[in-house]
Amino acid sequence: MSDSTSSDRVVAPDTQGVDDADSTLRPQRLTDFVGQAQARSNMQVFIEAAKTRNEPLDHVLFVGPPGLGKTTLAQIVSKELGVNFRATSGPVITKAGDLAALLTNLEERDVLFIDEIHRLSPAVEEILYPAMEDFQLDLIIGEGPAARSVRIDLARFTLVAATTRIGLLTTPLRDRFGIPIRLNFYTNEELEYIVTRGARLMQVGISKDGAEEIARRSRGTPRIAGRLLRRVRDFAIVQSGGEITRQVADAALLQLEVDAAGMDALDRRYIGTIAQNFGGGPVGIETIAASLSEPRDAIEEIIEPYLIQQGYIQRTPRGRMLTPRAFNHMGMAAPKSFREQQASLFEEDS
Ligand code: ADP
Repeated sequence: MSDSTSSDRVVAPDTQGVDDADSTLRPQRLTDFVGQAQARSNMQVFIEAAKTRNEPLDHVLFVGPPGLGKTTLAQIVSKELGVNFRATSGPVITKAGDLAALLTNLEERDVLFIDEIHRLSPAVEEILYPAMEDFQLDLIIGEGPAARSVRIDLARFTLVAATTRIGLLTTPLRDRFGIPIRLNFYTNEELEYIVTRGARLMQVGISKDGAEEIARRSRGTPRIAGRLLRRVRDFAIVQSGGEITRQVADAALLQLEVDAAGMDALDRRYIGTIAQNFGGGPVGIETIAASLSEPRDAIEEIIEPYLIQQGYIQRTPRGRMLTPRAFNHMGMAAPKSFREQQASLFEEDS
């Protein structure tokens, strides 16, 4: 599996196959939702206030890497408000008419969830502005000289949108969200709790150190924790009578090529390429993408955020740079040029 690509990784934070469609592990209410304490308590207040005032909740934008719970939170918002939940995503809405159809079917205070909102086309985005601001839809009917514009009143709905790339959102769109919420990677303790809860829901026995091991290797991401838990469970059933212990988890995850830091073959290939081909960096993202034969987007959205957060790489104006920690993790010695560059960085700092 050393040539694994971003689409077949067991630690990929984006959705994969049937397993991820399994909704048994998805928390249903705000109180079941583990972690993201600040986001949760803010949401609690805003939801409570909207309910008390009997008004629609202001539009919400969830920002953060894939698999951290944006869709889950959007569903929870609609449940807590006691309204309908309609879901779509940026790339799915190709024509203004698609969005118009969705909007005109909404009822008062309903939640419309748009995933990957940064991928909406500009023409569709244009319609969204008056819909979000004034709950009105301006449609052009007919063509040429006979064309006329009609204005339709919409129900006062709440748009809940999610994006992995806030930088790709246009400013006017971003400004129309009254409640922007950033989600962060989860701590190991939070993930351990999520894994233990998942095992309980899946009715599989797990020891505390077994849960810790899976949590530690889940790249701070609940979606990955759930996926690793399912895979480890399979190994546990076949090889050790069903109970997940640290030993079973460790053996199963090594078998799946997920190492002690939660990195898989692709992460190691990414770090290995920068180390071996580019002396540890700095190297531009396009060059890395070409070397790995992976799309730039996938590298920026899926591989890098966790490696940056964990201090394995740095983004600099001249490109990506490994840190000494990355060389250590790979068991490699940093080249002399790299060590000199690091030393000069520290001199600049002091
Ligand atoms: P995103 O929309 O950010 O990509 P999702 O909301 O689809 O992520 O969540 C991915 C998976 O992780 C879901 O299966 C969900 O059950 C699980 N999950 C996400 N956040 C939590 C959480 N806080 N606690 C437990 N499970 C979670």
